[in-house]
Amino acid sequence: MSALQTFDAIVVGGGPSGATAATDLARAGRNVLLLDRAGRIKPCGGAIPPRAIRDFAIPDSLLVARVRSARMVSPKSKKVDMPIENGFVGMVDRAEFDEWLRERAAANGATRVTGNFERFERDPDGVAVIVYNKPDGTEARARGKVVIGADGAKSQVARQCVPGSDHVRYVFAYHEIVRSPRHGTGEFDSARCDVWYQGQISPDFYGWVFPHGDTTSVGSGSAKKGFSLRKSVTDLRAAAGLAGQETVRREGAPIPLRPMKQWDNKRDVVLAGDAAGVVAPASGEGIYYAMAGGRLAGEAAAAFLDTGDVKALATARRRFMKAHGRVFWILGMMQWFWYSSDKRREKFVKLCEDPDIQRLTWDSYMNKELVRRDPMAHVRIFFKDMAHLLGFASA
Ligand SMILES: Cc1cc2nc3c(=O)[nH]c(=O)nc-3n(C[C@H](O)[C@H](O)[C@H](O)COP(=O)(O)OP(=O)(O)OC[C@H]3O[C@@H](n4cnc5c(N)ncnc54)[C@H](O)[C@@H]3O)c2cc1C
Repeated sequence: MSALQTFDAIVVGGGPSGATAATDLARAGRNVLLLDRAGRIKPCGGAIPPRAIRDFAIPDSLLVARVRSARMVSPKSKKVDMPIENGFVGMVDRAEFDEWLRERAAANGATRVTGNFERFERDPDGVAVIVYNKPDGTEARARGKVVIGADGAKSQVARQCVPGSDHVRYVFAYHEIVRSPRHGTGEFDSARCDVWYQGQISPDFYGWVFPHGDTTSVGSGSAKKGFSLRKSVTDLRAAAGLAGQETVRREGAPIPLRPMKQWDNKRDVVLAGDAAGVVAPASGEGIYYAMAGGRLAGEAAAAFLDTGDVKALATARRRFMKAHGRVFWILGMMQWFWYSSDKRREKFVKLCEDPDIQRLTWDSYMNKELVRRDPMAHVRIFFKDMAHLLGFASA
């Protein structure tokens, strides 16, 4: 018998995915350890859809702004506004948001531990042991019947336990948090997200200005080696009239480009969120998908604990891809085609003037379902898209 305490589940990483998995498992009466390293705020634009607020009971107090439209800016500086008919995009500050999620897990009974996951081992009886460094530098260990790796992009749990994680490709994203100007100063609107599609801002992704109440996130992303994101954000701040605003923080992080092919080790480890490569292509949206993936990983872990059947672990990926795989595929195609040249970006922004496209875009973003109530809108969009792809429509 090991002298170490054995948890039903150990969750490594207390971001949106890990905290959600830990909360759900603890609520279901499991004995859960939630391990998170302290001290770094996750770099993030912090935009979340109403579906995330609804499904994961996010309180109003965590929303620092409510965004009611998006402005798309083309290479030739054409501006297309896309108002949201019913509802809003919620903006969260990750320092408060993530801490609140971790505290919710603890309030539901999870044991919260601060420490840095170092390595994965096994006891002689085959049970998983995670080894971590405590803040005082000493090493500690815990045993888990199942381990959820939710330690973000470049996950160590994934690297040590799940094949294929060393082949994941990333967009690198960088942003500067600036003090927000007063609403209405120049073009600044505290209830509008601006999305910049210009090759000089990003050759393969986009730049953004996301208002967060007192502060605003101005950022850009690219997978191209050698592309200077710092220069791009300096240019973007100048173009958006934010060059003179005080800079509060500068930070960046990788965003995985596509879901990994395998999320579990076929024995007792399953991944969730960025660790599993789950971020929507084209938009870079990851918070909702991390929480949804955390929930599915929690359910897969619970089924495994109940039955001992290792196949239960694979249901996390299967169920996630069933729900979101088609949207990820469409977004991947969009990114590949529309973000590849300024000529195409110009057409893409023009397409966004279309009311059908605006409605479908918002409906699917807000509710995370492909809209079925207006099938003709899909048909109209298909033909409009084809016309643009084939060059029949004027730019
Ligand atoms: C610049 C930028 C802007 C973005 N903007 C948006 C946006 O506006 N909206 C959106 O939906 N998504 C956005 N994303 C994506 C989103 O931030 C991620 O997809 C999301 O945070 C993933 O959640 P997660 O829980 O899987 O991982 P993370 O949020 O990365 O959480 C991982 C957790 O694991 C912990 N951890 C890591 N390593 C260890 C270790 N060794 N030991 C212990 N703990 C560890 C970390 O402390 C962290 O708390 C953005 C990403 C970037 C980089």
